[in-house]
Amino acid sequence: MENNIYKQLGARPVINARGTYSSLGGSVLSPRVWAAMSEANHQFASMSELLDSSGAVISKLLGAEAARVTPGASGAIVQGIAACIARGDGAALERLPDTTGLPNEVLIQRRHRYRYDSVVRLPGARLVEVGTQRGTTIEDLASAISSRTAAIFFPAHMDRAEGTLPMDRVISFAHERNVPVFVDAAYLVYPIDRMKHLAQSAADLVCFSAKYMGGPNSGGLICGRRVWIDAVARTDFVAFETGKHRVLGRPFKLDRHTVVGVAAALEEWLETNHKVRLEACERRARRVLEYLTDVSAAAPTLMCFTMDETLEPEPVNCLHIKLDPRVARPASEVEAVLRTGDPSVVLHLRGDSLIVDTEMVSDDEVAALGTRLRSELTRVDS
Ligand SMILES: *Cc1c(COP(=O)(O)O)cnc(C)c1O
Repeated sequence: MENNIYKQLGARPVINARGTYSSLGGSVLSPRVWAAMSEANHQFASMSELLDSSGAVISKLLGAEAARVTPGASGAIVQGIAACIARGDGAALERLPDTTGLPNEVLIQRRHRYRYDSVVRLPGARLVEVGTQRGTTIEDLASAISSRTAAIFFPAHMDRAEGTLPMDRVISFAHERNVPVFVDAAYLVYPIDRMKHLAQSAADLVCFSAKYMGGPNSGGLICGRRVWIDAVARTDFVAFETGKHRVLGRPFKLDRHTVVGVAAALEEWLETNHKVRLEACERRARRVLEYLTDVSAAAPTLMCFTMDETLEPEPVNCLHIKLDPRVARPASEVEAVLRTGDPSVVLHLRGDSLIVDTEMVSDDEVAALGTRLRSELTRVDS
């Protein structure tokens, strides 16, 4: 433990019982992904060629017209929206985020506002809400579209939210008016059919985050129409270094390791037996449960914590632990003690319940996790 790399740097190791979160470092790289990244470390490549050719491999895997590795889904949003504003014009890309004389409005349905939409503003776009919290009509959208419209931004995980216009309808309406649609599908990587359906949709640009498919935390990908992927390529750090214009994407740099890591992770993700993967999550949850069976302060049940952060019965990937306020310390206190301990145990706090997500917990960590939970839930001091 003393040789632990985090300790050497003065940080505490974390047992991650929260799931895939950028703030905890993303996901665990498989041996196959790690080997690809390690191999890339031993040899150089032209980043321009590597980004083009790996993009071709990725587009083939997903059945999309074209694709490209990006520095995360949020990097894809910046580069994609920059492409929609400048439409491949290098001089315009050099001026961003100054959008004088360029279409700079990105439309979003009011009910679609979510955590990452502010990233759209980085290349200089103005995010324009369409409709109300009750919903958006096609008339609302029609009156919002103008010559100032650069794109419509659509978070795919919110498709069919009550009162909103569905994705297909928005895309066909936008295309009748020659407006591109950018889709954030960052975590819709499973089921695989759904991921491919999105990648093959009529949207102009669709992004995914590598963190959700066992890829590097700083990786992601964008796919869609050839012309738009080419326009995205003109915004990036390679274009800055090798092209004529000092374009906006220079700070969004990629390692060659990350590029091969994203490609390897996607390849593996599409080949993975996800039933086996999910069964392993359930097995870990059941093992943690064994540590808590006779803890009177807590009522643990096996549940599914979804990517939308809601609880459902299955597939089992977590323990939902409801604390009895008469016997247990407040859940917020237990959560804080676990988080600030060493090793830090990080999980979800929901009212008077704790949620232990086992997707990112390794088999080796189960005993330490179960023991820590048990000891904090049976402690009667205070
Ligand atoms: C994580 C996430 C992002 C950002 O992805 P990065 O690859 O971390 O940049 C964007 N949108 C959604 C919905 C996400 O969950």
